[in-house]
Amino acid sequence: MASVSLQNVTKIYGTDTVALDDVTFDVDQGEFVVILGPSGAGKSTLLRILNGLTPPTEGTIEIGDERVGGKRDEVAMVFQLHYLVESMSAYRNALTGALGRTGWLRSVLTWYDESDKRGALDALDTVGLIDEAGQRAGSMSGGQKQRVGIARALVQEPELLLADEPVSSLDPKAARDVMGYMKTAAMERNLTTVASLHQVNIAREFGDRFIGIRDGSVVFDGGPDELTMDVIDDLYYGGDASKAGPAEAISGSPDSESELAPETSDTGVQA
Ligand code: ADP
Repeated sequence: MASVSLQNVTKIYGTDTVALDDVTFDVDQGEFVVILGPSGAGKSTLLRILNGLTPPTEGTIEIGDERVGGKRDEVAMVFQLHYLVESMSAYRNALTGALGRTGWLRSVLTWYDESDKRGALDALDTVGLIDEAGQRAGSMSGGQKQRVGIARALVQEPELLLADEPVSSLDPKAARDVMGYMKTAAMERNLTTVASLHQVNIAREFGDRFIGIRDGSVVFDGGPDELTMDVIDDLYYGGDASKAGPAEAISGSPDSESELAPETSDTGVQA
C-alpha cells in the first residue's frame, strides 16, 4: 500500500496558470523522495497540495488510506526559512511541534505531557543537538536552526514529512549536514519524506528516488543511477545542453548559481 498517492492532480491558479498538469505518482512507506525541477516548475505547489494547504483544481491525494481534504496534523513541513521563536531554546522550539496535540492554552501554560517532553529531547538527539537543547535559537547557526526545525517536525509525529527547499539558504557543508540528519531521522522512524531541492548534487547523495518536474508535468521518475547528466539537462534545460555548462547543470537550477558555485567538483553525476 502506498503511503502517498496522487492521482491526476492538476492545479490551475487563476484562469490560466497551470502549476501542475495531470500529476500521478505513489510514494511507498519510508521512501525518501526528492522533487527536482527548475524555478516555477510546480515543486512548491506540489508540496502545498500534499500538505493540504492548497486544494488541487482536479485530482485526488491520499495519505495512508485517507483522502486529503485540508490541513492535516499527520503531515509535518520543514520550510526554507525555519520560523523558530528566536528567544526560545532549541528544546522549547522543538516542543511546539506537539501543539497540535496539546492545544494553545496548555502550551501557553507550558503544560506539556512527559511523553511530548521526551519526544522533543529524542528529536533533538536525532538531529545531533541534544547538547544544545538549552541554547537560545536566535544564537544558533543557520544549519542548527534548520535542524531544530526538523526536530520540531519530528515531535509532531507525522506520517509524512515534507520539506520545501530545506537547505537552500545554507552553505554546502551545512546543507549536507542538515540533509544527512533529515535522512537519518527518516530512516530511524521509517518516515515517508518528500523534499524539494534545487541542489542536484546534494539531492543525489540523499534521495532514494527522484521525481523531476518541468512546466507542471513529471518528466522523470527514477533512482540515483538513472539520474544521469542527460536527464538533468533535459529537466532543467529541455535537453538543450548548449544553454548550460555541465557543471552548472549538475550544481543546481539556473536561479541558484552563486550559492552553488563551490560545489562543482564533487558531484559524481554519471554522464
Ligand atoms: P517552484 O516551487 O517549482 O518554483 P511553484 O509551485 O512556486 O514552482 O510555481 C509554479 C507556477 O505556479 C509558477 O508559474 C508560479 O508563478 C505559479 N504560482 C505559484 N503560486 C501561485 C499563486 N499563489 N498564485 C498564482 N500563481 C502561482
